[in-house]
Amino acid sequence: MVGKADRLIAPDAQGIARAAELLSAGELVAVPTETVYGLAARADSAEAVAKIYRTKGRPDFNPLIVHVATLAQAEQLALFDERGLRLAEAFWPGPLTMVLPARAESSIAPAVSAGLPTIAVRCPGHPVMVQLLEAVGLPLAAPSANRSLGVSPTRPDHVRESLGDGCPPILDGGACAMGLESTIVALRDDGGWSLLRPGPVERRAIESIVGPQSASSGAKIEAPGQMRKHYSPGKPVRLDAREAAAGEFLIGFGAIAGSTNLSPDGDLAEAAARLYQCLHEAAAAPQKRIAVAPIPHEGMGEAIADRLRRAAA
Ligand code: AMP
Ligand code: MG
Repeated sequence: MVGKADRLIAPDAQGIARAAELLSAGELVAVPTETVYGLAARADSAEAVAKIYRTKGRPDFNPLIVHVATLAQAEQLALFDERGLRLAEAFWPGPLTMVLPARAESSIAPAVSAGLPTIAVRCPGHPVMVQLLEAVGLPLAAPSANRSLGVSPTRPDHVRESLGDGCPPILDGGACAMGLESTIVALRDDGGWSLLRPGPVERRAIESIVGPQSASSGAKIEAPGQMRKHYSPGKPVRLDAREAAAGEFLIGFGAIAGSTNLSPDGDLAEAAARLYQCLHEAAAAPQKRIAVAPIPHEGMGEAIADRLRRAAA
């Protein structure tokens, strides 16, 4: 059920100032980004960060991404080598998160990184989020604004539905353009790197900047919180379905029409942008089960397949 509209904050100068005020005071605000809606708190306050974990029901071993306005601000929190600087130049602002060694002297609350010596940082590109980060002048910790393990929100009403009574004010930035969480890359000290989470910035785009991921990379990097079961619509999900069985809501793709369709033209960027919207629709439908048409796994399809696998787990 859709909650009260009075939790919405308009994305104008006054609204952004109000959201910045709440965040400065240690309150939570749900914020728009180009990936999904985030549940933001000032990252330098242990109490504010604790509210994120509490509101989401998120396990405390699952660290948070810190959002900043500029590379300079990110450099106050994390140690960038030349590869990190090149990636920032290529993809920031945008949907790329980098896991880097944390600066010990930074003021980030330890719970943000769940006690790890690293920190995940991102400079988002959504114009409302950019203005908010500039107005608040602080790094903001923000995971997706849904109950832990649920489907990520790509519209304000998804946030309200998922968080229910615990929902904080939502800064209204409309529907998220990308609709999938950021790509997460960990840069290792030994020169290797790992793709911890596929996302809108495709693997090959990262390889074009930092070279191929070496065969050994990945084994040693911890990606806590990348749960096998995640993005759950609360119903069984069957993948690679060419038609709906009795009692199934079919999420189609391309020529497989379905009850709804990720992208009738078979466009993977459109499919990514619509994935969670379709999962929310499927969750709300009368059918007790969900089926999803086959999706090519290349390019952006790698990230879509990753999310679908976890939704089906
Ligand atoms: P979310 O904010 O829900 O999109 O999830 C953020 C994800 O980033 C977590 O599930 C972790 O897997 C990953 N992450 C955040 N910080 C770190 C870190 N310091 N090291 C490795 N992975 C991280
Ligand atoms: Mg999440």
